[in-house]
Amino acid sequence: MGAPEAFTATTDAGHFIAGHRQSGRSGRTQPIYDPAAGAVARQVHLADTGEVNAAVASAKAAFPAWAEMPPIRRARVLNGFLALLTQHRDAVAAMITAEHGKVFTDAQGEVTRGIEIVEFACGVPQLLKGDYTEQVSTGIDNWTMRQPLGVVAGITPFNFPCMVPCWMFPLALACGNAFVLKPSERDPSPSLFMAELLQQAGLPDGVFNVVQGDKVAVDALLEHPDVKALSFVGSTPIAHYIYETGARHGKRVQALGGAKNHMVVMPDADIDQAVDALIGSAYGSAGERCMAISVAVLVGEIGDRIMPRLAERAKALKVKNGMELDAEMGPIVTRQALERIEGYIEVGVKEGATLVVDGRGLKVPGHERGFFTGGTLFDHVKPGMRIYREEIFGPVLVCVRVKDFAEALQLVNDHEYGNGVACFTSDGNVAREFARRVQVGMVGINVPIPVPMAWHGFGGWKRSLFGDMHAYGEEGVRFYTRQKSVMQRWPASIAKGAEFVMPTSK
Ligand code: NAD
Repeated sequence: MGAPEAFTATTDAGHFIAGHRQSGRSGRTQPIYDPAAGAVARQVHLADTGEVNAAVASAKAAFPAWAEMPPIRRARVLNGFLALLTQHRDAVAAMITAEHGKVFTDAQGEVTRGIEIVEFACGVPQLLKGDYTEQVSTGIDNWTMRQPLGVVAGITPFNFPCMVPCWMFPLALACGNAFVLKPSERDPSPSLFMAELLQQAGLPDGVFNVVQGDKVAVDALLEHPDVKALSFVGSTPIAHYIYETGARHGKRVQALGGAKNHMVVMPDADIDQAVDALIGSAYGSAGERCMAISVAVLVGEIGDRIMPRLAERAKALKVKNGMELDAEMGPIVTRQALERIEGYIEVGVKEGATLVVDGRGLKVPGHERGFFTGGTLFDHVKPGMRIYREEIFGPVLVCVRVKDFAEALQLVNDHEYGNGVACFTSDGNVAREFARRVQVGMVGINVPIPVPMAWHGFGGWKRSLFGDMHAYGEEGVRFYTRQKSVMQRWPASIAKGAEFVMPTSK
């Protein structure tokens, strides 16, 4: 593969409302950084309530005709979008690397995971097919159908600016809803670009809108009476706030939160595989993944065997500008995030954990001002420590030693987060018991980052998800539709006279 083309944009990032790019009118802006250079690239406009209201009004106006369109024709529009997103995959990946910092090949993978959801959404006629029972009573049939909700909104995090919006809008649109997306203000370009691709694919203006913004825009969506449902992905405190506030305003809400994903390494695990899995899943995307492994639970004697190998690999990580194709880890998204991560390393040292590899203060030649840190590795971390309990969201792997499987399982189950988890073992029964007993929503057996495929649905347990339904998959279809039950009886079969008892199957 030749050198990828870097993304450059000179104009500030604004909104996409009623089929047009619009620059913001609120007068509030915030910098978008080039994290590899450590410099401000340009500004993003932050919407005020009036701009959010305009986006919701545009969606509301477009909704009836879009909902009325036969599902197979909506699927054709999504098929067109699928072709365009596939064609422009590298352009979107370059936008992600430019604004987020993750390495280009990982950004390509992110776009591919987004594309897979679009592929799933293209099958919407089958997904919307209802249930039908003939003759529930003499001369009476009963069926259920699923209908769209109206205007629905998505609020997404910085770490997957293409994939996470794709967890939401393709299915929401396929089901016949109109959508307002409020992406992360850190990396706004992919969502604006996808809005244009949807338009090129034939999506009527107003069905998909993008508003940039911060809490002001989010609160406007939460309180707007015409927004019927909200999908959120981000940190746990905000997810909790979104769930509570959305519910108080009568909305359907799914709010996916933060994580502290454990990987249990049993003494009988294939050690080469376990080392590869830990290094890739702890340090890939600089640990800024909700499914990153941030805790290694080392069972019994494997701890002493694996630790030197982890240390050697963590020290050898190739940390570079993400557009360099041999980079394994790029910069952190902002200086503020970098300071938070390096602050946690200081906390871990003060708490008495053993700092085996210290990534702090890394300087990348040619990018001395970039927001870089190296891979950090802690050993002998205890459950009471903040570096164990709290989400660091950076390239910091903490290792906890336990004596046996029961202690490992208890540790995982006692943690407040329950997003993803993995168990590395060569014992089928241990694997089976782990999958059954663990209190976590997504489980990998010898798979470190078990992000479910498009048709299985994504969601954590405990404080990693507030709401009843997971993102995408069939749960996504249920979230973006409501069920209606219809009973019918036609005159020829109507019994004579009024009936004063409940109809039964007699
Ligand atoms: P964040 O919670 O800071 O922001 C997420 C969204 O909420 C953004 O659009 C942001 O503008 C908005 N927001 C921020 N503060 C707000 C406030 N006070 N009121 C209303 N809205 C607000 O998260 P982030 O830093 O962008 O992303 C990283 C976090 O997301 C991590 O905690 C990570 O684990 C989590 N995440 C979870 C999943 C998952 O599937 N569970 C997936 C990706 C990321």
